[in-house]
Amino acid sequence: MADDSIAVVDLDRCQPDRCSYECKNYCPPNRTGKECITLRGEDTDEGQPEQIHISEEICLGETCGICVEKCPFDAIEIINLPKELQDDPAHRYGENAFSLYGLPAPQQGQVTGILGPNGIGKTTAVRILAGELEPNLGRHEESPGWDEVLEAYRGTELQDYIADIREGEVTVSRKPQYVDQIPNSFDGNTRDLLERTDERGALDSLVDRLEIAPVMDQSIDDLSGGELQRVAIAATLARDTDFYFLDEVTPYLDIGQRVTAARLIRELAEEENRSMLVVEHDLAILDLLADTLHVAYGEPGAYGVITPPKSVRNGINEYLAGYLDNENMRIRPDPIEFEEHAPRAAVRSDTLVEYPDLEKSYGEGEFSLEVEGGEIRRNEVLGIVGPNGIGKSTFAKLLTGDLEPDSGDADLDLEISYKPQYVTIDQHMRVDVFLSSITDQFGSSYWNTEIAQPLQLERIMEQNLSDLSGGERQRVAIAACLSDSADLYLLDEPSAHLDVEQRVQATSAIRRYAEQQDATVLVIDHDIYMIDLLADRLMVFDGEPAEHGRAGTPQPMRDGMNEFLANLEVTFRRDERTSRPRINKPDSQLDKRQKSEGEYYYA
Ligand code: ADP
Ligand code: ADP
Ligand code: SF4
Repeated sequence: MADDSIAVVDLDRCQPDRCSYECKNYCPPNRTGKECITLRGEDTDEGQPEQIHISEEICLGETCGICVEKCPFDAIEIINLPKELQDDPAHRYGENAFSLYGLPAPQQGQVTGILGPNGIGKTTAVRILAGELEPNLGRHEESPGWDEVLEAYRGTELQDYIADIREGEVTVSRKPQYVDQIPNSFDGNTRDLLERTDERGALDSLVDRLEIAPVMDQSIDDLSGGELQRVAIAATLARDTDFYFLDEVTPYLDIGQRVTAARLIRELAEEENRSMLVVEHDLAILDLLADTLHVAYGEPGAYGVITPPKSVRNGINEYLAGYLDNENMRIRPDPIEFEEHAPRAAVRSDTLVEYPDLEKSYGEGEFSLEVEGGEIRRNEVLGIVGPNGIGKSTFAKLLTGDLEPDSGDADLDLEISYKPQYVTIDQHMRVDVFLSSITDQFGSSYWNTEIAQPLQLERIMEQNLSDLSGGERQRVAIAACLSDSADLYLLDEPSAHLDVEQRVQATSAIRRYAEQQDATVLVIDHDIYMIDLLADRLMVFDGEPAEHGRAGTPQPMRDGMNEFLANLEVTFRRDERTSRPRINKPDSQLDKRQKSEGEYYYA
């Protein structure tokens, strides 16, 4: 086969006990007696049929692809690598396994960002940079060793860094992607967890700025996702190491907390001259956070390419445009575009529900919420923004009738389909069984096109809910919420753990669903780009988290964004080339001017 093709067999999917080797039986070279698809001969449990191996020398390449079609479990990928990809990979896990091209280059005193989909090799890259995984330069039969790796990277940004790893001189501190799993591996309270990380004497200040003090004596088991995220960030930054890697800092944090996390990471780079590497899918925050950016692309699970560093502005712009200039590479057929002006008020649609001023408090001295009366329109996507702990879920429960208001006659008993912020579906049940129990539309061509495809469910239908990653679980939960029949759909933080591509797809699935099903959708989210792309109108919550909250009436996007961002004292300017919103530096001329004009977003 052509040199630039690879064959990848996903050994978690290849299940020869449940098929009859259709791949092998139909492979054209095999049928003429060649040994293209063979049996591995080793690595299976006793008595189990053997998994397959594909010879990349003999295989005819992507234009054949017969085995890919024949495999009932989607276990095979045959891929023509882009012609532009001439170098050897940095690492390949083995024959017919994932390969990674290129490596990110952390720099002292800088924050280096990586932008790209999940499953593209970011963790692999970090394991190499942490000195845990010796890269094999694609030669998985014989390990080349660090000397040869250093030779391969001579003259690149990575030369010095690799020399340090070879000497065993790089120390690393890491924040994992899925903070929800921390309680599984740690017993004790927040203080126990954090104290052992205090290597720089910076813990008190981190605890203060990340507002962790109220949960210091709480058991890690009892922390919410947002609290775990802040504790994990503090634990990572408190250590005294050369290299810090943070895999997604924003899930479950509100915008104020996201900006604080970004500032802390920047300060550690600038003031202590450390190397920071971050993976982040909230583009407004990534823009604020990073000095340089590597874009990652490829086929998740098959191969990944990490580009040389770009300026953050160009990297994000090229990524959104779907075309990488220097690499001469299209990574997506269509660009992702932002409207410069607030969307025109939609044609007035019918009212789904009108509600009066409402009040609710959880008891003497506990949290209280005031709701300004308003209406929710049939067929709209209403964005809901505001800090954590300000009463957004409480408001939702007033709508569903799960909570009675203390004053105001609501008498609302809308059927609501609700996706909570923390997705807890993890029964031992297959995804397809779970989803077909929710809707009899399951499997119809409408459901497949509007729900399964944009949410990329096809490849995980046969997996168990309990085996899904955070991002996969999120997509199943969004599908389950939209598939239920209800008057109102309420999605709390659908962006959490989705990569940028998946956020955009989920956004368009939610919008199309609202339009086509005459459905009304409420979306709570902290990713400002997602809210911008998704919402027709905005409901803004403010107040003092955990003490009292105030919910404003739903308003047009421009007014809503202005009110919300004024509370946060954050303004956005527009990128000249793409109209993409970018956070202004506090107290810059633009920031001051926009504040005085009261134009925080659609300036
Ligand atoms: P990301 O961090 O971008 O989500 P990873 O680096 O974790 O991606 O993984 C990229 C691919 O490499 C995945 O398809 C994964 O299954 C595969 N992979 C990871 N570790 C191994 C391994 N030890 N052997 C074979 N394949 C692996
Ligand atoms: P949000 O959805 O904006 O994060 P919530 O409506 O969940 O906010 O919570 C607002 C505040 O009310 C929080 O401080 C929370 O701890 C408190 N709260 C929520 N439910 C209860 C309850 N049943 N009893 C007492 N306090 C509660
Ligand atoms: Fe055989 Fe390659 Fe064709 Fe698959 S793609 S059937 S391995 S020749």
